[in-house]
Amino acid sequence: MLDLTDIETCYGNARALYRASLHVGAGEVVALMGRNGMGKTTVIRSIMGLTPPNRGTVSFQGRLIHTLSPYKIARMGIGLVPEGRQIFPTLTVRETLLAVAANYTGSPDPYTMERVFAIFPRLKERVNHLGRELSGGEQQMLAIARALMINPSLLLLDEATEGLAPILCREIWQGLKLLKERGMSLLVVDKNIKQLLEISNRCVIMEKGSVVWKDQAPFTRFSDQVKMRYLGV
Ligand code: ATP
Repeated sequence: MLDLTDIETCYGNARALYRASLHVGAGEVVALMGRNGMGKTTVIRSIMGLTPPNRGTVSFQGRLIHTLSPYKIARMGIGLVPEGRQIFPTLTVRETLLAVAANYTGSPDPYTMERVFAIFPRLKERVNHLGRELSGGEQQMLAIARALMINPSLLLLDEATEGLAPILCREIWQGLKLLKERGMSLLVVDKNIKQLLEISNRCVIMEKGSVVWKDQAPFTRFSDQVKMRYLGV
């Protein structure tokens, strides 16, 4: 599905990623972990073409995408749920979903508003509310729903449960579990390690811009020492 091979990404002269490589298989959930500032968001930005890598390659479904514009990458079937949600404040839930709806990937069973409301019923109750009127959790659900409306086969989620009340976090994790069951590939950055690993097939840990540690379910090597060493928890 997705392969990053030895990518290096810079902000001006500052190199944020150094020879970072990772793989997301079809239908797999991969947890991308690491302490603050280690490069997780930059990996996501590199995949989407928002901060294109200076070196290395990104391929998606067998095609090289690291030189493409973000909108072309999205149209190939990669949905982004960005850090901070980036909700349109003056569009209603309905308008937001309709504005982006498209079946670029030719899915035989494309997402509709009703289908995303079945995953996040709370959004249906708020369908005529403006983005800025929603709670943080509702905005997060809308960010995920918005990404689904382009019918992606891979979803990138950057801190989707950050700052949310436990009940809303649970609803988000339930939604992601449902997407996994339906065969969606997910690359997920999140600080809730326990819930993240519960839905993941594999995890990779980043340190100083490189992938330094990997494990796969049932994560028998993911010990307290590993957590302390790489995540500081
Ligand atoms: P966090 O969990 O805090 O979001 P992260 O693991 O996602 O951290 P990144 O945001 O990818 O890390 O940051 C990686 C490095 O790139 C850090 O050293 C950060 O300071 C730097 N960086 C990130 N964004 C920019 C930017 N716009 N300009 C310059 N440097 C940046």
